[in-house]
Amino acid sequence: MNDKNKNKILVTGDRPTGNLHLGHYVGTLQNRIELQDSYNCFFLIADLHMLTTHQDKVGDLKENIVELVIDWMSVGLDPKKSCFYLQSMIPEISELAVLLSMLCSVPRIQRIPTLKEKITAMNLNDNYSLGLLSYPVLMASDILAFNASTVPVGEDQLSHVELTREIARRFNSTYKEILLEPEPLISKNSRLVGTDGQGKMSKSLNNSIYLCDSESVVKKKVMKMFTDPNRTSADIPGKVEGNPVFIYHDIFNDNKEELLDFKERYSKGKIGDVEVKTSLVRSINNFLDPIREKRMEILKNKEEILDIIIEGSKKAREITKINLELIKEAMSLKLK
Ligand code: AMP
Repeated sequence: MNDKNKNKILVTGDRPTGNLHLGHYVGTLQNRIELQDSYNCFFLIADLHMLTTHQDKVGDLKENIVELVIDWMSVGLDPKKSCFYLQSMIPEISELAVLLSMLCSVPRIQRIPTLKEKITAMNLNDNYSLGLLSYPVLMASDILAFNASTVPVGEDQLSHVELTREIARRFNSTYKEILLEPEPLISKNSRLVGTDGQGKMSKSLNNSIYLCDSESVVKKKVMKMFTDPNRTSADIPGKVEGNPVFIYHDIFNDNKEELLDFKERYSKGKIGDVEVKTSLVRSINNFLDPIREKRMEILKNKEEILDIIIEGSKKAREITKINLELIKEAMSLKLK
């Protein structure tokens, strides 16, 4: 174990909007499994962020929160090593967001690329909520409430860390040097393509293989997967590069010899999609089997999940309370 970073606080998390998929695994979860052994990790269940785009879909929220934690634990995130907490149970995060919002201009926030993407994807034009507009400030607060030093992100999320660093700098120069400028830890695979081959694997695009999918569901999804559209029969030489089936093979097939042979024959038109896909079904199912087993174990004590979240939130709050006191003191917001 690497103890060098053990005192460094790392914050990252997910929105409880449904089950996690292979994109989440390769993009962040895999990283987190390693990081929890070397950093002081805080894993956020971002229910307030979920409300910025799904404010009317709270019917499943409680179940989604529990499912998110089950997904985390099924891949090996461990509440004994890391702190799992619910954003709305830490009022200091919301209070800090109000204070930090004084330190950034509206046009600065409006220039954040991911905010623009969300507004376009949801067809909101100018009619977006104040909550959505200010989510980048809430994210800065998620990080600065812990005075975290490290934030693992996909490349698409870098602008959020950049804004957080800017706000920390402005705070330090305006009031007192107390906030760390968090460092991003960029993940290698920040964009796993979906089974439709059209874009990033995403819950909303119906192109995902979920960590909780059964063997037969994985088979159905893989057999229908997008490959090389120009290859209408097995004897036509196919494109390996950028082909989703081979992107997934590269990640999930441990038999590199077999994979090399598939690639060679595919590019010469000497193998059918069915053979390549059948092997991929096997590889993904082999990868998911231990995750499925762990899920079954966790489900035996499902009622413990809420306690894990409540205990984690208490622990997280102890830190944010201390930090917020220091921040308010620096801003002359404490009378005594
Ligand atoms: P989301 O659930 O879409 O808000 O994603 C949360 C985080 O999971 C993102 O910031 C990424 O780091 C990661 N992630 C989600 N989808 C993918 C994907 N298709 N490929 C790689 N990483 C992903």
